[in-house]
Amino acid sequence: MIEKQIQMVDLHGQYHRLKEEIDAAMQTVIESSVFINGPQVKAFSDHLAKYLDIPYVVPCGNGTDALQIALMALKLQPGDEVIVPAFTYVAAAEVIALLGLTPVLVDVDPHTYNIDPRKIEESISRNTKAIIAVHLFGQSCDMEPILKIAGMYHLYVVEDNAQSIGAEYTFPDGRVKKTGTMGIIGTTSFFPSKPLACYGDGGALMTSDEELAKRIRMIANHGQERKYHHKLIGCNSRLDTLHAAVLDVKLKHIDEFTAARQAVAAKYDEALASCGQLILPRKSTFSTHVYHQYTVRLKPSGDVTDTAKYRESLQASLKEKGIPTMVYYPLPLQAQEAYKWMARTPGNMDEAARLSQCVLSLPIHTEMTGEELEYIIDTLLKELQDRKM
Ligand SMILES: *Cc1c(COP(=O)(O)O)cnc(C)c1O
Repeated sequence: MIEKQIQMVDLHGQYHRLKEEIDAAMQTVIESSVFINGPQVKAFSDHLAKYLDIPYVVPCGNGTDALQIALMALKLQPGDEVIVPAFTYVAAAEVIALLGLTPVLVDVDPHTYNIDPRKIEESISRNTKAIIAVHLFGQSCDMEPILKIAGMYHLYVVEDNAQSIGAEYTFPDGRVKKTGTMGIIGTTSFFPSKPLACYGDGGALMTSDEELAKRIRMIANHGQERKYHHKLIGCNSRLDTLHAAVLDVKLKHIDEFTAARQAVAAKYDEALASCGQLILPRKSTFSTHVYHQYTVRLKPSGDVTDTAKYRESLQASLKEKGIPTMVYYPLPLQAQEAYKWMARTPGNMDEAARLSQCVLSLPIHTEMTGEELEYIIDTLLKELQDRKM
């Protein structure tokens, strides 16, 4: 056993590595006492825009707000349909529903967990207005075919980049773009466990369109440009100055953090490759992978009829031995009580349903030691071996 408790993500360890820089940045904000819209908010937004190579970054309160503000800025109207992947975090479907729009679910590619572009076209109707491409677990959706279909049908593409900031997509012609900068609007979340994270809630939108950036900024600020003059119906969604200060420090280290997670993933890849009971996450040829999650699929051998039950018992045994694991996500959207009656599902969602039964995310973070990693791998392999019939 190792002394330190293994965690899915080690925020405390990461803080201590950056303590001096972060304490100084936070102290500066507290001394200035400009807690809302302090200069650090603009500085961080500018630095993030530069990092992503996009003209406009507008910060907001969280990643879910970012998606909602994006759809509001695109002036979608009740009854309009928005395509979302069936296997994802709920936020996109939630804001679609809140705005009176209809979520249309599309199945995913079981190897990459991202929306399957080959299944988008059959889901488009006269009412379809947008596609939300969620870059899940750390790598980009296949954007070239998605953008092509969107172009043919005049649809907006919004990229939900909460999990994959820093990942790069290579177009067939060789152009390389960072995720979140290829659609009309990109959104992200700075929730503490995300790849670029603050010490609470935070989010941002990014776009190359100046008019759109202006409208996004207005909507996030009560629909006003001039104080107390409300041109649009908006909301109140801000990134606190303290969080911006923390983010500005962490942004300087983002590529280092990515490399640390990639090294952990490479170790998992190598050590688990020959284990017949696991299907490892596939790296797409067109995208880098920043490994927000390292998510495997269980393929139990022997008599197992219920993979989800097998997974539950495996998780329990690992937990007893000090190894946390997570299931992202135990239900596809079509099976969620709140959405099953309202989402349109033109195609079948078999892959999303299957993934929900067999996915398992292993611990991966910037502070993981070689010793921890070895312990996780050895214990996992032994558990799988013991369960083989
Ligand atoms: C975390 C997450 C969100 C929501 O972000 P919050 O900041 O928690 O509102 C949206 N989409 C995806 C894919 C996420 O992982």
